Amino acid sequence: MNSELLVATHNKGKVVEFKEMLADLRISWKSLDDVQVSEDVEENGDSFEANAILKAQSYAAKSGMITLADDSGLQVDALGGEPGIFTARYGGTALSHQERYQLLLRNLEGVPWELRSARFRCVIALAAADGAILGTAEGVCEGMIALEPAGSGGFGYDPVFYLPERSLTMAEVPSAVKHQISHRGRALQAMEPLLRKTVQGAG
Ligand code: IMP
Repeated sequence: MNSELLVATHNKGKVVEFKEMLADLRISWKSLDDVQVSEDVEENGDSFEANAILKAQSYAAKSGMITLADDSGLQVDALGGEPGIFTARYGGTALSHQERYQLLLRNLEGVPWELRSARFRCVIALAAADGAILGTAEGVCEGMIALEPAGSGGFGYDPVFYLPERSLTMAEVPSAVKHQISHRGRALQAMEPLLRKTVQGAG
């Protein structure tokens, strides 16, 4: 029988993405909505790692399930590493994804190409059913903030995140490629051995 794994998100797309990336694992992937956990955990940690751990621990304790949680964001060198852990709220909670990346472009107006380096960073934490943290893994994707948006794939800041080695933005590469090279894809690949051991041990 497949072991159940809770992914600490309400975002069904993220669960599908994880499932596709680790298609050979015998896991029954569940979102918070699948297991009727509606109470949100406040992400008040001061790093991606702290927030991922907080979410994995809290949702495992609430659900009694092995739980995977991720936290990610964008670090822009010309802004001293911002928006970082505030990426989802950059410019305030009322903005759309498009308004948020337009704000980023405005804040980088006049910054020359060679100083527009940035990276997506993701930390994934895995908690046992009792809430004990079993491990964390990190993934980084290096790029540049484009001068203007391009592409319609992906989500969030993808249209303005330019990949120099492909001469395309993240919104222009096929999703299978994004899964391979993205911060989340890389963090998940790094987490895979522990996940395999944990769910096989539990199943
Ligand atoms: P979360 O930790 O997955 O909720 O990500 C925080 C924020 O970072 C999101 O709201 C997005 O704005 C941004 N973000 C995370 N991953 C990506 C990505 O793959 N592409 C574009 N933006 C992303």
